[in-house]
Amino acid sequence: MLDTSFFHSELPARPMGKYAHIVLLRVTEGYALFQTDGELNRARVSAGTRDQRAMTRIALFKRKQTTPERLSGRELLRHYGLLSDACKYNESACRQCPDCITYGFAIGDGGSEKSKVYSDTAFSLTDYASSHEVFTLNAPYEDGTMSQQGEVSSRINSQDHVKPQVIFPSVITTRDLTASLFAYVLSNVLRTTRYGATTTRGGVMRNHVAAIVLSDGEIFSNLLFTQRLYDAIQPDGNDPVAIQTALNAAADVIPALLAEDGVRDHQVLMGAELDQYLASVRSMNEAGNRELLQQAVAECLAYYNAYIAKGGKK
Ligand SMILES: [Zn+2]
Repeated sequence: MLDTSFFHSELPARPMGKYAHIVLLRVTEGYALFQTDGELNRARVSAGTRDQRAMTRIALFKRKQTTPERLSGRELLRHYGLLSDACKYNESACRQCPDCITYGFAIGDGGSEKSKVYSDTAFSLTDYASSHEVFTLNAPYEDGTMSQQGEVSSRINSQDHVKPQVIFPSVITTRDLTASLFAYVLSNVLRTTRYGATTTRGGVMRNHVAAIVLSDGEIFSNLLFTQRLYDAIQPDGNDPVAIQTALNAAADVIPALLAEDGVRDHQVLMGAELDQYLASVRSMNEAGNRELLQQAVAECLAYYNAYIAKGGKK
């Protein structure tokens, strides 16, 4: 089980170096649209650290990962009646709810709070060429044709989608959270399946957690994790990569990468123990969930009263 004694009992005013990382594989389960116009973002990087040939990968920016997760967390808080109507995402921050305190806010004169959840651009394990597909979407007229009174419609639009079963290895880092706020972030990661521009159809991505790492510093990056997985799997001509193949490779790569990081690990939860822990999180009943969220709300309110309400913690 996760060693919850590692976490703070109350949110500290200053950085205390308690890092809890969620190491995961984000996997598309349909055609995901991450750009509403034009092409997907791409990055030219080395395929692996051993195999240093250049490769073009799909880049999934931070916001495309965290925004849907924040929105699912906010939905859950609202479901339990724990989010004030005054807190509007990207409009007016209440500065005291678990979303504002955990993921941060910035409002002109109203102050700001740094995010305690760090994530970075994620890269596709496989190359752009085999991981994307361009669809031309037609919007025909009612008679089914693309022309009207002799004029050809301009309602033709081509969009660049990520194919199903494309893997984006990622690390989410949380800093100095309480056990209940870490549970909140983890639950958002486990519950969110809609990413990208299309929210009513398509855009489904499933997060497969490969490890939870508690440590005194930040661990490896998304890109290094991706490259080491690439070295281990060598997915050329083996596309798509089976999720289990990638998870098995991650089980070898993660301990090796952690050994190279200059941080002390307090706990590395992986394998059967991790599965057991995640199962317990998923099977938590409504009362348990409500209690956990109420605890998170109380901790955030205490932090707000101590450091934010009176204008700054300095
Ligand atoms: Zn808020």
